[in-house]
Formats: sequence, structure tokens, C-alpha cells
Amino acid sequence: MTAVRPQAPGHPPETVAAYRAAGLWGSRTITEEFQRVAAAHPARDALVTAAGTLTYAELDTRTDRIAHGLGTLGLRPGDPVVFQVTNREESVLAWYATLKAGLVPVCALAFHRAHEISQISRLVGAAGHLVEAGTGGFNLVAFGRAQASGHPTLRHLVALGAPEGADVDRLEDLGRDVDPAAARAWVDTVQAGIDPDDVAVFQLSGGTTGVPKVIPRRHAEYWYNAAAYAGAWGWGATSRVAHLIPLIHNAGVVCGLHAAHSVGGCLVLSGPDLDRALPLMATAGATDVLFGHGHYGAVEHPAFAGAAASLRTVVLSGAKVGEALFSRFEELGLWTGQLFGMGEGLFCVTFPGAPREARNHTVGTPLSPMDEVRVLRPDSEVPVADGEVGELCARGPYTIRGYLAAPEHNARAFTSDGFYRTGDLACLREIDGVRYVSIEGRIKDVINRGGEKVNAEEVEQLLLRHSGIAAAAVVAMPDPRLGERACAYLVARAEPLGLEDVRAHLDGLGVAKIKWPERLEWVDELPTTLVGKLDKKRLREDIARRLEQG
Ligand code: AMP
Repeated sequence: MTAVRPQAPGHPPETVAAYRAAGLWGSRTITEEFQRVAAAHPARDALVTAAGTLTYAELDTRTDRIAHGLGTLGLRPGDPVVFQVTNREESVLAWYATLKAGLVPVCALAFHRAHEISQISRLVGAAGHLVEAGTGGFNLVAFGRAQASGHPTLRHLVALGAPEGADVDRLEDLGRDVDPAAARAWVDTVQAGIDPDDVAVFQLSGGTTGVPKVIPRRHAEYWYNAAAYAGAWGWGATSRVAHLIPLIHNAGVVCGLHAAHSVGGCLVLSGPDLDRALPLMATAGATDVLFGHGHYGAVEHPAFAGAAASLRTVVLSGAKVGEALFSRFEELGLWTGQLFGMGEGLFCVTFPGAPREARNHTVGTPLSPMDEVRVLRPDSEVPVADGEVGELCARGPYTIRGYLAAPEHNARAFTSDGFYRTGDLACLREIDGVRYVSIEGRIKDVINRGGEKVNAEEVEQLLLRHSGIAAAAVVAMPDPRLGERACAYLVARAEPLGLEDVRAHLDGLGVAKIKWPERLEWVDELPTTLVGKLDKKRLREDIARRLEQG
């Protein structure tokens, strides 16, 4: 059995050799890495959710059987499988089972709709669609059926969380009757056909253009990313890592699932609702947690003290951290730091030992000793001086060298020597002789809504498909809880439309709700700069001022 090798630029052979020689990249697939850890810690907890606890042995055996079941359905190594699930036990089973069957998970989200899934599934040539039954009042099973109709490649729909007897292939039933030893032998045969530098996972990019970009992550480098993250915090088999933001996303997979499992630790997995997440963390004895921007306020929640009893470290990620907030965590005796990361690769973390000033006011230093970071003058390859703001660019052992099937975009998104242009603005700040990365904004035209990225250009193009809209500019407006929300500045063809009309239009196009503008500003014309380009800076300032004035 040979895995299909999708079309995407990888690292040059000499770089591959250097990362291997340095011991950063291993020679196993993600499945083989997981199996190795599971064999070393069979009786330890691997996963705690509201549904209960799974040990490593249980998780390993169950996912062997489900993998076998996926193969029996007719899915073949290299087949991409689009995931639309939330944070629950079965999602973890599905993740490892998919990898064990040699399939490539595609990290879409449960709230994606026809506009997103039809594009993504065609771009990757998805053969399978894994959906969660009964989430958020939307029938993803019926949606999956509709997506498969007339689709060039989609052949298999699998549901998790569907009731017994439901008229769909249920993940929970797959491989149920298969002998565990036979299932393992089958998995081993599949894995033997996969190269550690083959694509393992497709992540989706927040992106800089209207069309989604697919990020190919490969076995050895992706596992290294997670193992290095666990190593940065000194995690081991007694670490119990809580994760509340979407699991099937880069931070979820790297910082939660794979990092915890790279060291024999336990993942404590919950949904985003603090009323449930914090008590679960308390009963599970969570030792470490990553809070995205939408959860920075967790420290004020009445149930936080219960969770804090076992917590040792809190990592904050997604937006600048105020002094008062940082102190609130520290006053509770929690070591507090920051993470900056992206699906394309580069992570920065405030390593243990970093001074408070660096942990509060920077995102730390690159995760790997072989990461290379440059801050360049935007649209150039000229570095700025330390302390000056420029575009953060990175090359290294877990940063991609190109998106899937996007040669033109790749030519713009990477420097001539292979540094990924992150689209984030940063400066290097020296503190106690160490150069730390400080994030100072971004160039890329996205709205960061509580960690989920909304691509402004994509929404503008969709808005312009309404006959009543002559021009559109979507910008971020500040929001105390989510960080940012989308505001659309619109020029009407005749009469301005109501917010509900505009949202109904996007709903009709099958656009995920997260992308719908949450406020409209009707204007006679959109402002332009001196050179005639759309002036979004003015619009962002305008909406911030309006909100401030109430
Ligand atoms: P994603 O690939 O969805 O994880 O998004 C990555 C992007 O999120 C980065 O390129 C940044 O724009 C943003 N981001 C991630 N971490 C931080 C952080 N600590 N501070 C500010 N922005 C961040």
C-alpha cells in the first residue's frame, strides 16, 4: 500500500538531512510515535472528557479497530477525510483512527457550511467526510449527504455521536467485531507504506486571499512541533493538559493532543463553555492550560479557583496581555506565559526562566533551536533594525515551504530563500540580553474573532454578490470578549439594507455564520489613500471611534 503524495513544495533535501542529523525529525509516522508512547504507558490516562477517561491502552486498541473499519468501508491510504466535529472523546478516536488507516485528516470546523466545505473538499480531493451528529442545532449528517451529491471525489460519510441504528455509518460501530490483533496487524501494514515526510494532516489557513489555502503538515515535522512544545514546558507523563478551544485545529492538535501524548501525559478535553470546562479541569486535576483570547477572562469565573487548585501553568495566546490580567493569574500562584503560533508552523513561547517582563509583554522566543526568524520591511526582503516593526518571517523545522497546489500564492507568501511571510507585524525586543518577539499588529487582511480567522476579502466578494451592494470593505472592530468582530462598510446601489437582509444573503450562499458581519456602516463611498487604494486603516479607526463614543 502506498500513500498518495499530494502536490506541495517540501523542504529541500539538504535541509531535511540537517533536521534529521540534529535529531529533530524522527523516522516514524505520527501513528508509530503514538503507538510507541502508548506501549510505554498503557495504564496511564490518555484522555479525560465529560464522557469519562480512556487509558493509552484503551485509546490505542479502540483506534486500531476503528481504523480497520475505515479501511473496510473502502477508504484508502492517502485519502483526505474532512473533519467537522467538536471537542469530545469520539473526535480523538476519529483522529488517531484516521491516521492509523493512513488517511489524511482535513481540519475543517463543525460550523463550516456549503461555501467552505465544497471548496475545501474539492481542493484536497476529499474521499471521506466525518461529521458530528446533532451539533448546534444543525444536521451535519444531512449536510454531508448534500455535499456528496454530484461531488467529484467524496464517497464516504461517517458520523460520530449518531444514535444507534441511525441510517449512516457510525464511527462508534466501525471495527467493533474485528479481532484487536488483526486490526493492529492491518494498521502496521498500512503504516509501513507511509514515509515520515509524507503529508499527514491538512490544516486550513486563515489566509490572505479570498480562496482558502491548505497547509500540508508532514508526519515527522508535525510530531516534532508537538514534542518540542511539550519539551518547552517540561511536560512529562504526569502532565494533565487542558484544552478548551477547537481540538481539530492547529493549536488543538499540536498544543493539546499531540503534545500531551508525545510525553505520555493526559489530555483533558472540553468545549469552550467555562461553566463546564473549569469543573472538568478541577476533577481531572489539570496541571496546564492554554487559554485563547476568548478565555482570558476565565480567571474571574467563580469556578476558576477550583481548577486553579491543581493548575501549575497558564499559557495565554491570541492577543496582547494587559498587566492587570497577567497579575491576576500570577497572584493565584500560577506561572503565566504566552504562545504565538500558526497552522503554517512557527511557534514562539515564553520559555520557563523568561523574566516576567518578557512573559507579560512579548510572545517569547522561537520554539526550536533551528528556527530562523527575520523581521523584514513589508514587501521587501530587507531586514529592519531591532526594535523596529516589520513583517515577521520564518523558516525552520516545522514551518511549511508551500501551500497545497498554490504556486502563484506560494511565490508571494515566501521569500526567495524560503522564509514564510506570516503577515504579522513584529519587532525584536532585547530584555536581559535575549531578543524576544513582540507582536505589533498584522498586514494580512483578516479579522481574528476569538482565535478564528475571518478573511476580509472573501467576505467582501460574497457581499458584492448581493444586487443591492455596490462596494464593500470588511474591517475588524474591537470587542472586549472576542478581541475583534467583523464590521462591513457598504455602499448601497439604492436603499441601504438591514443587517438581517445582509446576513440572510450570506446564509443563502452557505457561508459559515462566523463570517457574517456583526455591524454595517452605510457610506456614500469608501475612503481611498493618496494612491487611490482602499483605506482600511481609516475605516478601522472610524469604527473604533464610533464604538468608543457608544
Ligand atoms: P492560526 O493558523 O489559525 O493558528 O492563526 C495564526 C495567526 O493567529 C497568527 O499568524 C497571528 O496572526 C495570530 N496569533 C496567534 N498567536 C497570537 C498571539 N499570541 N498574539 C497575537 N496574534 C496571534
